[in-house]
Amino acid sequence: MSDTELMPIPGQVDPVPITREITPRADGRVDLIGLPKARIQELFLDAGLDAKQAKLRSKQVYHWLYHRGATEFEAMTDIAKTMRPWLAERFVIGRPHIVEAQHSNDGTRKWLLQTDDGHDFEMVFIPDADRGTLCISSQVGCTLNCTFCHTGTMRLVRNLTPGEIVGQVMLARDALGEWPKGRMDGLEDNEDTGHYTADGRLLTNIVLMGMGEPLYNFDNVRDSMKLVMDGDGLALSKRRITLSTSGVVPMMERCSEEIGVNLAISLHAVTKSVRDEIVPLNRKYGIEELLQACADYPKASNARRITFEYVMLKDKNDSDDDARELVRLLKQYDLPAKVNLIPFNPWPGAEYECSDPDRIRAFSNIVFEGGISAPVRTPRGRDIDAACGQLKTAAQKKSRAERDREAAEAAE
Ligand code: SAH
Ligand code: SF4
Repeated sequence: MSDTELMPIPGQVDPVPITREITPRADGRVDLIGLPKARIQELFLDAGLDAKQAKLRSKQVYHWLYHRGATEFEAMTDIAKTMRPWLAERFVIGRPHIVEAQHSNDGTRKWLLQTDDGHDFEMVFIPDADRGTLCISSQVGCTLNCTFCHTGTMRLVRNLTPGEIVGQVMLARDALGEWPKGRMDGLEDNEDTGHYTADGRLLTNIVLMGMGEPLYNFDNVRDSMKLVMDGDGLALSKRRITLSTSGVVPMMERCSEEIGVNLAISLHAVTKSVRDEIVPLNRKYGIEELLQACADYPKASNARRITFEYVMLKDKNDSDDDARELVRLLKQYDLPAKVNLIPFNPWPGAEYECSDPDRIRAFSNIVFEGGISAPVRTPRGRDIDAACGQLKTAAQKKSRAERDREAAEAAE
């Protein structure tokens, strides 16, 4: 059992309110991961440093944490030797715990992670020839119930904290060995040479397409993405970050203004009746309202097109008429759009089948002929249940006790 009681779904479309206070650890120390520089400075002041020291030390520590990936204070070589134990007595540098790491035969990697209070969630890394995409989670489970999505069948949920969200990216850099190397001396003169560039790196892009609806946990998603985008933090450009939403219209403007990342919309259907059924949030924010919000998304331009995700469900949303209506709608709203056709990934108990390959091709051709790019997304990591919509924590498939028993048996 986890320490924090899980919240039942409050309703099909309502966000989950959760306190944003820092959860105190049993040992009284504060986890710095997820906190911005200003907050770290405040904590150092509260812990007794004078104003000048608090400012300097928070700057140094911040750089070590987010830019260099230090996991212990002892590694912070430009901080006085006597100061490092002082920090370690009061603060910790957290990472999500790794419960299980899996490798797919296509190179995809999936990590089953756990929060300090015992909730499981997942992250997936998808390497490609020209990029490496990390797919991260924003919630444990999801309060929405899209009928084709495995995550949507999870009964329980809690929002991930900024630390748990940015912690996924940090863990991936740990695992891939991708923290910038550089000198720390001369930091005050901004002479640190450790810059993160995407060149030759494995992890180049982040997609908020794991478990959860990121716009129902927007404050935490924003705070974590700010740390990711900060040049002195993880330093990954917002152009390389994509947030996927099932269509939480009232939050889209804030998403644009406060983080300005690329947007992906889980559209999946072009008629009210079908979308109401498969993406129940549609009953609250309909297709027209959603597309208008996309047209208003200020960063939408040809250079940064909005991606429309469309899961291919046999005999449900995959007809020629559906494809033509999709083109018509995207043109009507004059959207700089590209469509991503996602073959439905099956999971036990799902009521749908994936459209036949010929059908998917025909659908794609119609959209292409309408002047809109519509590639078919190759399913990745299906053998380890890492593909889109397959994420549902092992905690729900297998209980903790079952896993422990299996581990004990394996060790015998
Ligand atoms: N909650 C957000 C973020 C999750 S993104 C959202 O819905 O946009 C995960 C993407 O995979 C979404 O487009 C989702 O609709 C899609 N998806 C869910 N279940 C799927 C499945 N079984 N097969 C293929 N795609 C699926
Ligand atoms: Fe939640 Fe997205 Fe799955 Fe819908 S598709 S249930 S919004 S994770």
